[in-house]
Amino acid sequence: MSPPTIQDELQALKKQSLYRRLRRVENAQGPVLVLDGREVINLSSNNYLGLANHAALAAAAKEAIDRYGCGSGASRLISGNMALHEELEERLAEFKGSESALVFNSGFQANTGILSTLAGDGDVILSDALNHASIIDGCRLSRARTVVYAHGDLDQLEAALKLAVHSRRRLIVTESIFSMDGDEAPLGGIVELAERHGAMVMVDEAHGTGLFGANGAGVVAKLGLGERVQVQMGTLGKALGGFGAYVAGSSALRELLINRCRSFIFTTSLPPAVMAMAIAAIDLVRREPERRETLWNNCRYLTENLRGLGLQAGASASAILPLIIGDARTCMKFSERLLERGVFAQGIRPPTVPPGTSRLRITVMATHTRAHLDRALAVFKEAREEG
Ligand code: PMP
Repeated sequence: MSPPTIQDELQALKKQSLYRRLRRVENAQGPVLVLDGREVINLSSNNYLGLANHAALAAAAKEAIDRYGCGSGASRLISGNMALHEELEERLAEFKGSESALVFNSGFQANTGILSTLAGDGDVILSDALNHASIIDGCRLSRARTVVYAHGDLDQLEAALKLAVHSRRRLIVTESIFSMDGDEAPLGGIVELAERHGAMVMVDEAHGTGLFGANGAGVVAKLGLGERVQVQMGTLGKALGGFGAYVAGSSALRELLINRCRSFIFTTSLPPAVMAMAIAAIDLVRREPERRETLWNNCRYLTENLRGLGLQAGASASAILPLIIGDARTCMKFSERLLERGVFAQGIRPPTVPPGTSRLRITVMATHTRAHLDRALAVFKEAREEG
């Protein structure tokens, strides 16, 4: 038999309703997108605070280009370590209340790099079942033994820690806010177990950074666990509106990553404009807590009114409201019906989520007005009645 062709593979995806295609956004990121030529209300963005198109970030980027130019020219360890990289890292460390911080080119690169630096042969990584693809790939890349514990299940985690007693290093890794469910990890319990069993803790704050805690530093800060979580990773491309990622922790962690982390070492560093945007975004998040208040008000409003329509979003602790549909085909059809009527709520299918749990991943933004949300709710009502 001849090997399957690329076309065969694409056909198979189509048959299973797992085929994906790119949609084109033709305006700046905001609560309303021009998507493939049509205006739609955007319920599918991680731009939670509306900073992706904020004038302060744009001004900072322009100023950085005028002063430092466009590209960074090389990796950080060659000639690409520019003053703005270090300035951002100082600002991030201060923001997170950690001894130091290191910037990565993306969250995906941060997770794969950090995990494969901190764990290796003879180590055990304990990973939540719903962790992001970049964490899963980091575990694989590390060559450590990976034990996947049921989502948020502290009993299973403890049992796995006990079994891993003879490993060289034990590293627990979890998201703080889960990207497809919007719920919060039991971080207090995780940290206690880690201390009891001599394990390190790494928390991915991709969906927590900018949103939680008194100054927006994240869920770890909100819970006062900063001193007890050795590795805090987060992204700059979601609530902070720009691009890139960071890790916050001890100076020793930073030093080790600079020396050993392949996704940090072997890549061109981020351009100055991206650093300047992140610095401006951190300033805004700290200075304008009212953005977070508006976001949470919007989340409450949408959740309650969806419930009024008989659409129950999952137990969310964040701006991510999962509307579980189940089967991939039905989910994508519902998403299409919404889109036809001008609401973009992306359907999420396996392998991003477990089979049978396909969902609309509805995300809320601080810049949604009541009129946007009311229009979206009217469309949900129509689409639901039709289906
Ligand atoms: N971790 C989580 C939990 C995420 O949701 C994402 C982005 N989808 C990433 C890491 C990767 O971050 P980035 O987009 O910066 O690569």
